[in-house]
Amino acid sequence: MKDNFGRDINYLRISITDKCNLRCKYCMPEEGISKVKHEDVMTIDEYLSVAKVFKNLGISKIRITGGEPLVKKGVIDLISGFKKIGIEEITMTTNGLLLSKMAKELKEAGLSRVNISLDSLEEEKYRDITRGGNLHDVLEGIEACKKYGITPIKINSVAMKDVNINEFRDFVNLTRDEDVSVRFIELMPIGEAIKYKDKFVSNDELLSLYPELKPMEALDKSSPAKYYKLPNGKGNVGFINPMSCKFCGTCNRVRLTSKGQLLMCLHSNIHIDILQSLREGKDIEKLIIDAIYAKPETHHLLEGEYNSTDMNEIGG
Ligand code: SAM
Repeated sequence: MKDNFGRDINYLRISITDKCNLRCKYCMPEEGISKVKHEDVMTIDEYLSVAKVFKNLGISKIRITGGEPLVKKGVIDLISGFKKIGIEEITMTTNGLLLSKMAKELKEAGLSRVNISLDSLEEEKYRDITRGGNLHDVLEGIEACKKYGITPIKINSVAMKDVNINEFRDFVNLTRDEDVSVRFIELMPIGEAIKYKDKFVSNDELLSLYPELKPMEALDKSSPAKYYKLPNGKGNVGFINPMSCKFCGTCNRVRLTSKGQLLMCLHSNIHIDILQSLREGKDIEKLIIDAIYAKPETHHLLEGEYNSTDMNEIGG
């Protein structure tokens, strides 16, 4: 359906858990997050009921995120359930640690593609940023996706000063011989990342490090990324700049958290409690239609209006 500004809302991002098997320094506190009561989290059946309503309102694509979606019990049933109700494209954002074990089942359930978050190609640095992650598990996960046809693969990396910009060229070089998309996301000063504000690197600064990169035609108008290519490169390199408002005008997405809160914008503090209404047997279709009509025209990050919820809860 169209919102009040004529944007066709066809993309739902669902954070299916706020738990994660990593503790990335800029994303989650070292001690982890406060435990949410089991009954406060949406069940697989509840996700499917809500997804059916969204499907009838024109949602054709669902991205599953988290926390870490692959640690959620029932994730395979959830994907096959989405497929059964007719969702055309089911994708996932994951840290990739469990992909080597799960890629085959995920493909069979109906997962189309994955975005894998990877901030370093150096073993020790990866372990440090993630507070304990094993880079080899992620690399094996990438290979498993290729083997089972969960492709093309997108690798998402948050560039940080004095942390990983020295690896920028190595990341870009991954796109030379393989059809992968490597995308750099500017660090957003929200939640834990506020402590790392001084690590911010702009995309323009990164681009200046690799002048051979040439801009490409927009791959998808609603995509937040601007794409570039190496001469004769098989893959591409994307830059996502969440701070400037370049893609609000074509934003086609809404979000649902694992506690059943509907968000019309990643950066909005307005949460609509779908889960409570669903459990009370209320008409959630009307609630969703009203929420979509009220989707804000743009975010106000540059004016200092941030979402106070951490990324592991909203889902990046
Ligand atoms: N666990 C999954 C993963 O690692 O991809 C999904 C959730 S994670 C919150 C999704 C993405 O958000 C990751 O790529 C992470 O790097 C990114 N992220 C977290 N905090 C961020 C921040 N402050 N600014 C930019 N990206 C952030």
